[in-house]
Amino acid sequence: MKVGVLGLQGDVREHVRALESVGAAASVVKRLDQLSEVDALVLPGGESTTIGKLLDRYELIEPLRARVADGMPLYGTCAGAILMARDIVGDQDAPHRLGVLDVVVRRNAYGRQLDSFEADLGIDRLVGDFRAVFIRAPMIESCGDDVEVLAVVDGRPVLVRQGGLLASTFHPEMTADARVHDMFVNDIAGAA
Ligand code: GLN
Repeated sequence: MKVGVLGLQGDVREHVRALESVGAAASVVKRLDQLSEVDALVLPGGESTTIGKLLDRYELIEPLRARVADGMPLYGTCAGAILMARDIVGDQDAPHRLGVLDVVVRRNAYGRQLDSFEADLGIDRLVGDFRAVFIRAPMIESCGDDVEVLAVVDGRPVLVRQGGLLASTFHPEMTADARVHDMFVNDIAGAA
């Protein structure tokens, strides 16, 4: 399975390494021709306004929406999840985004004290806790009926799935545990 990592900003190399460790052929996607070569894509975290602007400038938003509409599996982490969200609430918007996942998110929602934190998650279908790293994370405020919540922190979804779409508000590429990447590549994308 060829899995691309959007290479405009963020932990690109870490995602490539995690994807390779679970058996995917990973490559960096920055241009349209590179997008057409992959079967699935990861959107790394970073700053969603910046990544959105770059997606717009490189004219990748419509082609990405078209690939998703065509069934391409997509996994967004943190800012990547913001870019996937149908709606944003609160004072910080993310105007250039894909809007393909039926969730409503609030950017930087955990406040100053909790800018960055870690939590041991119980994730549906995974045996044993997953140490999750959150960095200026968005909060998923609500989800549509077709969205499956796979993990929560304090009652709020932090890992969700809608068909071939996966989104986490944490950064699984920052730890050595590649089980979320494995779920994306081998369960979600593998079944698409
Ligand atoms: N705070 C960033 C945003 O709102 C997301 C942070 C991240 O991706 N770690 O875009």
